[in-house]
Amino acid sequence: MYIFRDIHPTLHASLMALAAPVFDKVEPDHWVGSHPDGDTGDEYCPTCCQKAVDNINAGKTADGTESLSNDQLEAIQEEPVFVDGGWTSEYDKIPRCTTCDVFLTGSLTDTAIDGELSHYEQHGSGPESGKIEISSPEKAYELLELAEAGLSDNQIGRLEAFIPSVEVATQTVKGE
Ligand SMILES: [Zn+2]
Repeated sequence: MYIFRDIHPTLHASLMALAAPVFDKVEPDHWVGSHPDGDTGDEYCPTCCQKAVDNINAGKTADGTESLSNDQLEAIQEEPVFVDGGWTSEYDKIPRCTTCDVFLTGSLTDTAIDGELSHYEQHGSGPESGKIEISSPEKAYELLELAEAGLSDNQIGRLEAFIPSVEVATQTVKGE
């Protein structure tokens, strides 16, 4: 079994140190249950999910900016929406709250893993080829999420191919 922190202990430690402020704020993943439009693909932290549910049950869109259609209103009258989730679901990208952008718990599908791998591969072969700079807590968190996802042998090979190019900034640049 591939355990990133055992194979790259120094890199793992510096990523963990940089990502610490993000890890402190990760929230359990939630979504609007029984949404009249079905699965909207929107994930939320618990606080924002409660607000979205309150907005919808008050006859507004999740963000509270517009009124629902008559069909949607009828649907909620029959079956009010509710705060659903709270366990770790699977996502096609690293999940973040639709409203406040905080990272959410979740495991990554193959689609998400391949997307992340491609992202780093493109960086590695770009004009500033050779270096993948990890300069913010968010970037450090995202790389750890990828490295610690359940990778296939092929995905491990792709990860290991760019890992030597990764440089972790020791201090974050403000305003970036
Ligand atoms: Zn939120």
